[in-house]
Amino acid sequence: MGLEAALPVDGFMTTQLRRVIGWARRNSLWPMPFATACCGIELMATACSRFDLARFGAEVMRFSPRQSDLLIVAGRISAKMMPVLQHTYAQMPEPKWVISMGACASTGGVFDTYAVVQGCDQFIPVDVYIPGCPPRPEQLIEGVMAIQRLIDEQGLPPPGGKRKPFGIVLQPNFAPRPQPVGLTVS
Ligand code: SF4
Repeated sequence: MGLEAALPVDGFMTTQLRRVIGWARRNSLWPMPFATACCGIELMATACSRFDLARFGAEVMRFSPRQSDLLIVAGRISAKMMPVLQHTYAQMPEPKWVISMGACASTGGVFDTYAVVQGCDQFIPVDVYIPGCPPRPEQLIEGVMAIQRLIDEQGLPPPGGKRKPFGIVLQPNFAPRPQPVGLTVS
């Protein structure tokens, strides 16, 4: 990992405990995938060889909230499903982080109905919002990297206190293109 090259000849290095813990923590995020719809397919693609989330140490999907520290909400959440999501979040040990992946998870998307929650942040704290329908795997990786950067900066969480959600909104990574053929009405 390049550490050996940074070590002096006698093999000792001094640093701060919070930096070592932050370094280990950011490079070993264990996601809890809460995939309810099509965004889940992009989430699966992110872990596959083409995008290879393992490069960032975050490929170990646990499917058990008690072993996870990164909740990825991928897809629309129905009113009936929200208590399950809250329960899952509550079972995860601190410190924990949350990514809201895609338009549906963050805003309800096109499903402006009474049965779909219009943004999961109304019920659980969200650290990173990823736009798009569906978001590309690169965007999810950018979201994971945003959390990694903040873990680096924050170090250890405050003792006994609950962390405030970061509330980062990623920018869309595409620009709308004009119609290839001009539309005319005759
Ligand atoms: S944002 Fe789009 S891709 Fe994602 S769950 Fe909603 S409809 Fe599906």
